[in-house]
Amino acid sequence: MNLDWRICSRARVTRDARFDGKFFIAVLSTRIYCRPICPVRTVKESSVRYYPSAAAAAEAGFRPCLRCRPESCPGTPAWLGTSNTVSRALRLIGESGIEDGGVEVLADRLGIGSRHLRRLFLRHLGATPIAVAQTRRLHFAKKLIDETRLPMNQVALASGFGCVRRFNAGIRKVYKRTPTQIRRLARLKEIQSENQYLFRLHYRPPYHWEGILAFLAARVTPGLEVVEGESYRRTISWDGRDGYFEVSPDPQRDALVVRIEFSDPHSLIFIIERIRAMFDLNADWEAIVRSLRTDPLLAGPVKADPGLRVPGCWNGFELAVRAILGQQITVKGANALAGRMISSFGKPFFATNGLTHLFPQPEVLADAKIASIGLPAARAETIRALARAVCNGRISFEGVVDSDAFLNRLCEIPGIGKWTAQYVAMRALAEPDAFPIGDLGLLRATALISSRELERRAESWRPWRAYAAMYLWRMGGRRVPRAIAHSLLKDSA
Ligand SMILES: [Zn+2]
Repeated sequence: MNLDWRICSRARVTRDARFDGKFFIAVLSTRIYCRPICPVRTVKESSVRYYPSAAAAAEAGFRPCLRCRPESCPGTPAWLGTSNTVSRALRLIGESGIEDGGVEVLADRLGIGSRHLRRLFLRHLGATPIAVAQTRRLHFAKKLIDETRLPMNQVALASGFGCVRRFNAGIRKVYKRTPTQIRRLARLKEIQSENQYLFRLHYRPPYHWEGILAFLAARVTPGLEVVEGESYRRTISWDGRDGYFEVSPDPQRDALVVRIEFSDPHSLIFIIERIRAMFDLNADWEAIVRSLRTDPLLAGPVKADPGLRVPGCWNGFELAVRAILGQQITVKGANALAGRMISSFGKPFFATNGLTHLFPQPEVLADAKIASIGLPAARAETIRALARAVCNGRISFEGVVDSDAFLNRLCEIPGIGKWTAQYVAMRALAEPDAFPIGDLGLLRATALISSRELERRAESWRPWRAYAAMYLWRMGGRRVPRAIAHSLLKDSA
C-alpha cells in the first residue's frame, strides 16, 4: 500500500475534502473508521491508522462512522498509480458487481490469474476483490436505508443481499443496529413519491459544474435530454425498463443531487454507478492538476476554472452514433439530426418535463432507413454497420477491458476513424489519457500547425490528456463545435 502517512495526517487534521475517498482513518479506541472530512473531534496521531479503502478498514475490524458516513464518499480514483488492472477491475465490479463464479471470472476477464488479481488488490487497496465488492454492496444498502423510503425487503434485494435475513445480519454486524434503527436516525426530510429516488453523489472538490453542463448543453438531443437552468436531465433505459434522471449541483456539500425515476429499484446500484461515471465523480483533481499546470499553455485556464471534468455518457452506443451524426456538420446541425433520429426511431417516452423519447436500440437502427432524416447515405450506412456490430456482439460498449482492441474493432467500421475512436475512448470508456489528435479545435487553441506538433506537446499532459482536451476546447470557446465537425471530416474521408 502506498499511503503517505504525512499527507494523510495533514489531510485529516485540516479535514481536507480533496482527499475524501482516497484514504480512510480508523480510530483504535472506538474501532470506527471515518472519512478525512469527518466533523467528529480529531484524536491524536498515535491513536489512528490509515487505510487506502473502506474495505481495508472493514477487513481490519473497524465499523463505518455514522456521522461522516463513509458510504457516501467519492469513489476510489480511477487512476491508481501504475495499476491499470485494478482500475479496470474496479470498473467491472462497478458495472456488474462480482458475478457468479466470483473472482476467478473477474480475473479471467482481465486476462490474469485470480491470485495475481488478489495480490494487486491487496497492494493498492489493502483488501481482496471480494471484500471490496462486499463493502460496496453494504455501503449501497446503507445509502438506500438513509436516502430512500424503499421497504427493507426491497433494499435487501436492490443491494444484492439475496434475502432479507442475510441483509439484516450483515447490517447488524457492521453497524450494531437494525436497518430500521438506522433509518430512524436518518430522518429523511425530502418527500419522495413512488419510483422516485433522490441521492447525493459526492465528489472531491473542486468540481466545475458550469463547465460540464455547458459542454452537455451544447450537445443536447432534443426530446432525449433537457438542460434547464442549473440542471440536466435525460431519459434512460435499463434491462428493458424506462425512466429518467435529473442532476443538479449542491456545491455546499461537494455533491450532485440526482433524482431518478425508475420502476425497478434493483437497477439503482448500476444506474447510480453510471451516473457517477457520466459526471466523472471519481476524478482525483489533485493528481490531474499536477501534470497540467506545468505547461504554461494550460496553467492559466486550469487556475481560472479549476475542477473541469471529462463528461462521460449514459450509453456508449448512443455516444458513438452521435459522433457519427456530427461528421462534417456543426454541433447544432448534429443536434437537430439527432432529434429527428430519436423522433423517427426512438421509443416514445411519456413525461411532462420535455422528455419525449428514448434513444433507439441498436436492433432498431441495424436496418432502419436512417438516411430519411436527412443524412448522407454513406453516414447512414456507418451507423447501421455500428448497430449491426453491437447486435451481433462484435462490439460491446460494456465491460471493456482492453481499450486498444476495442478501438481497433470500432475503426474497422467504414466511416469511423481515429478521431471518432479517441472521442469514444474519452467519453464512453473514460480513458483519462484519450486524446483526439488532429482535432482542429485543439490545434487552434494550442496555436500549433500540425497534429504531430500537438501530439508531441501533449506528451507532457499524460496520463491526463483528456482533461487537457477539455480545457483546450473550453479555451477555443464557440469555435469548437465547428472544429469538431471539421476534424470528423477527416474520419469520413
Ligand atoms: Zn466519522
